[in-house]
Amino acid sequence: MADCIFCMLANHDIPTSVVYEDDEMFCFKDADPQAPVHVLLIPKKHIECLDDLKEEDAPLVGRMMLKIQDIAKNLGLENGYRVVSNNGEDAFQTVKHLHFHILGKRKMTWPPG
Ligand code: AMP
Ligand code: ZN
Repeated sequence: MADCIFCMLANHDIPTSVVYEDDEMFCFKDADPQAPVHVLLIPKKHIECLDDLKEEDAPLVGRMMLKIQDIAKNLGLENGYRVVSNNGEDAFQTVKHLHFHILGKRKMTWPPG
């Protein structure tokens, strides 16, 4: 998608701090970190949000969920971490390209804000 900031980052049109990349997913540091470690994992394919996932996306999303383990390990998050995907207006999704926040290196609270 031409005017999508996350597509631009995944295409390397805009430089960013790359944490992990392969041909179907991209992980980079959040520009406004909410924890000492805060990265975003996105599919390279433009999918707007969780609600837009199709059956055919299941293998991709499954591989992304498994990749989170590796990313967390490489970032030293052995004490735990939180994975968040804001979906839609009430959840305050600000970027309309599916992403999983991975947050760690501090104690989280519950319930979230
Ligand atoms: P959300 O509110 O769940 O849609 O999260 C969007 C996230 O993207 C926020 O945490 C932003 O800080 C982050 N973000 C927006 N633009 C950029 C960018 N150019 N590089 C890195 N992170 C970004
Ligand atoms: Zn996009």
